[in-house]
Amino acid sequence: MIFKLPKLEYSFDALEPFIDKETMEVHYLKHHQGYIDKLNLIVQKDASLEGVTAEYMLANLDSINSEIRPSIVNFAGGHVNHSFFWKIMTPEQTSPGELTERMLKSKWGSTALFLEEFGKKALGVFGSGWAWLVALNNQFDITTTSNQVSPLSLGQTPILGIDVWEHAYYLKYQNRRDEYIKAWENVINWSSVEANIQRIERGPP
Ligand code: MN
Repeated sequence: MIFKLPKLEYSFDALEPFIDKETMEVHYLKHHQGYIDKLNLIVQKDASLEGVTAEYMLANLDSINSEIRPSIVNFAGGHVNHSFFWKIMTPEQTSPGELTERMLKSKWGSTALFLEEFGKKALGVFGSGWAWLVALNNQFDITTTSNQVSPLSLGQTPILGIDVWEHAYYLKYQNRRDEYIKAWENVINWSSVEANIQRIERGPP
């Protein structure tokens, strides 16, 4: 399987002023493509990975040859995390759906309180990584991962996630990660979040 960049559903400048055009361009075309190129190089050299999806690799790291396992964590992780990230953002104005609101309210008190807690966790990631809203056994939680570790490798299903690597915000926000996180809340694709929760509640196909 040759991995490729997923189609971006909006233009590079569509998330302005919250996420700037130049950051989107470099992030998608250089960083995400870089993970894909490295993933393809590894997969081409290992016949056991022929036809295996990146998601399957991440959810089954034990089945990966231990010599290349750290690279799979980094590059399959980078590919899958970014593919998820592009879809969890939108230039369209969306608001939390019924399931989302009910879940966030019962677990965190309100959507605003959830965002506050999520933002704190994202701000607290030391160095490069991600903050996530995940589901594990129908329980919802806010987690963080370092570098490109995927929630899929921890048995969790991502519902929402923010990239807090400096490459995600440095051109516009420099060291002001807090401003980036606040701005990013304006481009959350709540319709995708709702669909992700629906999928969890329906259970595995
Ligand atoms: Mn990134």
